[in-house]
Parts: sequence; C-alpha cells; structure tokens
Amino acid sequence: MHSSSSTNGASPAAGSGRATVTGGSARQAAIAAVTNYRNTTAPLDFRETPAQELFAANVFSKEKMRDRLPKAVFKSLMKTIEDGEKLDATTADVVASAMKDWAIENGATHYAHVFYPLTGLTAEKHDSFLSPNGQGSAIADFSGGQLIQGEPDGSSFPTGGIRQTFEARGYTIWDVTSPAYILENANGTTLCIPTAFVSWTGEALDKKTPVLRSMQALNKQAQRILKLFGHTDEALVSSTAGPEQEYFLIDRNFFFARPDLINAGRTLFGAKPPKGQEFDDHYFGAIPDRVLAFMLETERELLKLGIPIKTRHNEVAPGQYELAPVFESANLATDHQQLMMLTLRRVAERYGMTCLTHEKPFAGVNGSGKHVNWSLGSASQGNLLDPGDTPHENAQFLLFCAAVIRAVHKHQGLLRAVVASAGNDHRLGANEAPPAIISIFLGDQLTDVFEQIKAGGANSSLPKGTLTVGVDVLPPLPKDAGDRNRTSPFAFTGNRFEFRAVGANQSIAGPLVAMNTIVAESLDYCATKLEEATGGDPDKLNAALQDLLTQIMNDHGAVVFNGDGYSAEWHEEAEQRGLLNLKTTADALPVLKSPEVQELFAKYEVLSERELESRLETYLEQYCLTVHVEANLTLEMARTMIFPAAIRYQSELATTCANLKVVGFEFDTDTLDRVTELIKYLQDGIAALEDVLLQGEDGDLIAQANFIRDTTIPAMNFVRKYADELEGFVADDLWPLPTYQEMLFIR
Ligand code: ADP
Ligand code: MG
Repeated sequence: MHSSSSTNGASPAAGSGRATVTGGSARQAAIAAVTNYRNTTAPLDFRETPAQELFAANVFSKEKMRDRLPKAVFKSLMKTIEDGEKLDATTADVVASAMKDWAIENGATHYAHVFYPLTGLTAEKHDSFLSPNGQGSAIADFSGGQLIQGEPDGSSFPTGGIRQTFEARGYTIWDVTSPAYILENANGTTLCIPTAFVSWTGEALDKKTPVLRSMQALNKQAQRILKLFGHTDEALVSSTAGPEQEYFLIDRNFFFARPDLINAGRTLFGAKPPKGQEFDDHYFGAIPDRVLAFMLETERELLKLGIPIKTRHNEVAPGQYELAPVFESANLATDHQQLMMLTLRRVAERYGMTCLTHEKPFAGVNGSGKHVNWSLGSASQGNLLDPGDTPHENAQFLLFCAAVIRAVHKHQGLLRAVVASAGNDHRLGANEAPPAIISIFLGDQLTDVFEQIKAGGANSSLPKGTLTVGVDVLPPLPKDAGDRNRTSPFAFTGNRFEFRAVGANQSIAGPLVAMNTIVAESLDYCATKLEEATGGDPDKLNAALQDLLTQIMNDHGAVVFNGDGYSAEWHEEAEQRGLLNLKTTADALPVLKSPEVQELFAKYEVLSERELESRLETYLEQYCLTVHVEANLTLEMARTMIFPAAIRYQSELATTCANLKVVGFEFDTDTLDRVTELIKYLQDGIAALEDVLLQGEDGDLIAQANFIRDTTIPAMNFVRKYADELEGFVADDLWPLPTYQEMLFIR
C-alpha cells in the first residue's frame, strides 16, 4: 500500500475527478480504502497550548494594536473603527507597518485582500511583501495605501452587468471593522485583510458593502427609538448574528467516486437507504472518533482566527453535524461564517473526508440549513430584544419586537427571495425545513401578550386580562429550547429571532442585509408615529405606544403563526391570511424587482436600483447555471454509468434465461421483464432530457428560470426516478456508484 496523501493509506480513486476503474470496481476500491483508513495527522495536545491562549492568536486584534501602535495612532484608528471616522494617510501608514511586522514575525510572506463577490464565495488576491530595492536585493514593504486599497483584476466575477470587462476596474477597500488575520498553511502563512469590493464608480460589487450600509441604516433608526425612551448616549446600535452551520461529512474516497458530488456538491442519483434517519439514533448521539478528531482540529483553527466556536453535535441525518459560534456583530459574523465554511472544508481533507455544505446532498434524508440568529443591541442598552424586568424596559422590548413583526409581514417576499437558491429549493417546504411561506413563531406567552395589547388600545376601557404597556410587567417568557417550534421559518427564541430558512451553503450576508434594512424601515415608521403622537412629551409615550402596538398587530398580526408549519392546513390557512407562498427560486427572486423592494433599499441607501438589479441578474444566472450543470451531469452519468450497468445486468439475466432454456428449464423472467422495462424508461428519460437541453431556454433570465423550473428539473427527476429504481435491481458488484448506505454509514 503506498501512501501518497498525508491521511489516507489506499486511495485509488482520490485525486482524479473521474473514477478510473470501470463497473463496480471503483466503488469497491473506494470501500476498501475507507475500511483501511488510518489517521496520520499529528495529535493535538491542548495541554501544551490551552484553548484560551489560542483564542485570536492569529488575529491582529485590538489588544495587539494597542501594544504595537503609538498611542495617538491607536486612538485615531479606534475612532475610525468605532465611530466611522475617516482614516488619515499617516495613521494608515503606521498601522500598515505594524501589521506587516506582526505578520512577518508570524511567518507571513504575502498579504491578501479578501473579498466577498456575489457568488457567495470568498475571494482573495495575494501579493508578496517583498519589493526589489533596485540594488539586486529586496525589502519587505507594505504601505498604508496597500493596506487600504487594492485592485484585484476580478473582472470575471459576476456583477450582473454593473461592470463590463472593458471597464474592469474594481477596488478592494479595507474594512476596518473586521480585523486582519493570518491564515496558516504547512508551507507559510498569509496576512489576510477583509475588504469591501466596489466598482470604480462606487457601486457595491460584493456582499459585504450592503451589510455595512444596512447596519448603518439600522443604527440610525434605532437611535430615534432609544431617544424616545430617554436613552441619549448614542452608543452604536449594532445588529448581531449567530449562524448555526449544518454539514455532512463523507469519506473522500466516496466523494471522488461520485462525479455528481464533485461537480454539483449533491448526489443526483441514489436510492434511499433501507435504514435512514427513522431511528433517530444519530441525532445528538455519540460523535464518532474520526469526526470528533476533525471537529477538535477545526475548532482549534477557528479559535486561532478569533471565531468563538461554542457548540457541536450530531444532526438528524446520518453523517450530518452542526457547528455554532457565539454571536457577534453582523459584519464580523458574516466574515467569520465564510471562514468557518472554508475551515470545515480544509480540515475535513486532513482527515480523509469531504465536508458537504450543500443544502441537500442526499435525497430522502434531511438536508442542511443555516439558522441565522439575529438581534440588535448596543453597549449601553444590551440586547434590545431581551424583555427587561421593568415595565419601561418591557415597553421598549415590545416596540422592537412589534417592529420586527411588521417588517417581516411587510417584506415576507424579500425574506423569501434572500434565501432562494437552487440548492435550498430542495429543502424549503419538504417537511424537514420550514415551508416557503414566511411566518413568525412567537410562542404562546408572547402571542398572548400581543393579543392582550390588541384587545385594548390605550384609550378604551381595558377588558380583564389586558396588559397596559409601560405599566404592567410582562409574564416571564420562556428563554429556551423546550417548546421550540422547529417548523417555523422565523422564530422568536427568548431574546432574538432565528431565521431558519437560510440554506447551509449560503452566505449569511443577504439574509442579514434584508433583516437589518426591513427592521430599519419599520423602526423609522414607528419612530415617526411616536414622535408625532408625543410631540416631544415623554408622558405621552405609553399611550402612544399602546395605540401603535395595537395598530401594528391589527395590520400585521397575520404573519404570526405558532402551529405546525409542515401541515397541509397551514398552506390553506396561510393563503386565506394572504401570506405569500413562493415555492421555488424562480418564483421568489423576481420579488427583488418589485417597486417596494427597490424603494426600500434606495431609501435607506443600502442598494441603489442598479445594484439591486445586478443582484437579481446574478442570482438568476446562478440558479440557471447550477441547474444546467446538474442536468448535463444527470445526462452524462445516466448514459455512461447507470445505463451500462443496467444493460450488463440485463444481459446476464437474458443469458441465464437462454442457457436454461437450452437445458430444458423454464426461467422466471419477472426480474428480467422489470429490469427491461426500467431500462426502457431510463432511455426515454435520457432522450427527453437531451431534447430539453438542446431546446435551451429563450427569453430573459426570468423566463429561463421558469423554463428550468417547469421543464428541465422535471426531466431530470424522471431520469433519476428510474435510475434509482434500477439500483434496487442491478447486481451489487455491477453498480458503479457508492450507495447512500455506504456514504452515510461507513466512517
Ligand atoms: P439552538 O440549536 O438551540 O437553536 P444554538 O445554541 O445552537 O441554539 O445556537 C444559538 C445561536 O444563537 C448561537 O450562535 C448564539 O450565539 C446565538 N445568539 C444568542 N443570542 C444572540 C443575539 N442576541 N443575537 C444574535 N444571536 C444570538
Ligand atoms: Mg437553532
């Protein structure tokens, strides 16, 4: 056995995109390699360096800056980071020089501007610190200018028409609010600088810029509300996010034996295993050793990057796990989430596994989501969605909560659109994740509170059991788990909202931009109403508030639903309530074109009309491209892997039948008949899918997306149906693809 890679003994299929052995033998070789897996990574010892010492070791953190920068420079930089003041050139030069020294001490040879293009991925452009000095040697050099601004070519990133390649200039601009860090590799380290990516005309080409803009909008409106409640310290109100990442792990040998996993990140074929997740024996079960070793190393890497990893556990499906950090400011959480996905993938390789973050890698078992926990708060006020102990605090909490309810009801279409992707379409509404209908779960107690408020406006005589805002104290609300409703796309969980419809593979930037902006709009509305009603008299606040909350619940209470979101009745009821049910990406994305959404983003200066249009175009294009790749792969795998296996088996059956006849026996041809029939359907399906792909889509991107939804995907599903049925008949040694059973249960 030769050992080429660091982690795995025999890895016959690893490294090649396509299995090189034909028939079932590639699969058999993969199984053998998996069975012989030996871990060869060096063991970690947390006694040598305790976890708390590791935390943020690779981050150019505030503490490191304080230590390394002259006092005046540090102060000026903090002004930029905390109050958004402009960074002057001299300060930037000093910071750059200190950052470079720190990076070089830590083995860095290069620096990279890291940015977040609309693909949802992370992009980086590396440059060496070294510059020739003109005298035959080189010096390490890094100026403030290089720190602040870069010019990656990047002309091939999708920009939805904003930037033609002939005007390809896009700039990366240092985001001072997200600290620089060092990324390690066995052969050296790189200083990474988080940046925003904008066109030369100042338009956002990335996912970060709108996050920053939406946070500003939210802060501005939240300050108005806080002022009404007498809080005038103006401490920055920031939105906070804690994303829970679900993912699958499978052995790399299986991964490389499956062209669909390699190219599409999900299996396009595969019969449901006889034993799936029915037993619930995996959920929160003991974590297998190899997986635990992987988790410990992943967490160690993440800790070094200053990512506050908190929980890990097995998820519902076999082979499925979850990782969650402690929440952070939305911008930082977004950058860290991207790093988390990268780290999961990198470390998995060291343990001979592949980490799948696709929303639905395996049909028939649960898919993966990314619950995004969201709230807002400030240093002086704490979490603004935390009910307080006094009537005053409760009143403030109820207002923020009502503002969210109003926002979600008003902009349900937008919230659906920002979680739309080809991958997430397999999950939403499939009774494993929330339906495509956006509603809010408040829990019984909080719903009751709002019902009471609704029942009695401040000016009417209060019926029994009515709560007076600002006078009565709220009943204690359940803070955690227990009665959590897992079927709701948007749930209040005691001190935050949890947006559960987000897909595992998605950047959380889009969902956060949407949340921040719609809540900013709602707070703006509330602040205006309350300012008018009180006319600056704080004594009038409680009455005005009671009126406003009553009105909001009357107008927007329809979005509150505490029942079973999976049930058929809910679909009917939701329709009666006038809630949207945008089932697929093709249905949901066009919401971005609506005047309401355009006005919303323009008014709060989060996305201009052109920027929004460019996003619609890019996401539609991604949807079409993704399904296209999958359709072509379906065709190729059906033709070159499944059909050949099926006819070999058919021929074996036919030969047996003929041979038996010669010696005078009657062969029961039931199986042969069935196999022949299935092969016929498979061939028909292949031919039909070929036609669909030849036909191609006409018209604009929306028309193309609709064609894909209505024609291409059903044609793919037809092929899959008969291929999967054949899997249940064809001789095991002839079946070319690792089965679900093997991928999900062998560790
Ligand atoms: P569960 O699986 O029960 O939903 P987890 O503990 O896995 O809960 O995840 C909860 C997430 O919510 C964590 O990332 C946590 O930091 C985050 N969270 C807690 N408070 C807030 C808040 N105020 N704002 C945003 N996220 C929060
Ligand atoms: Mg959760």
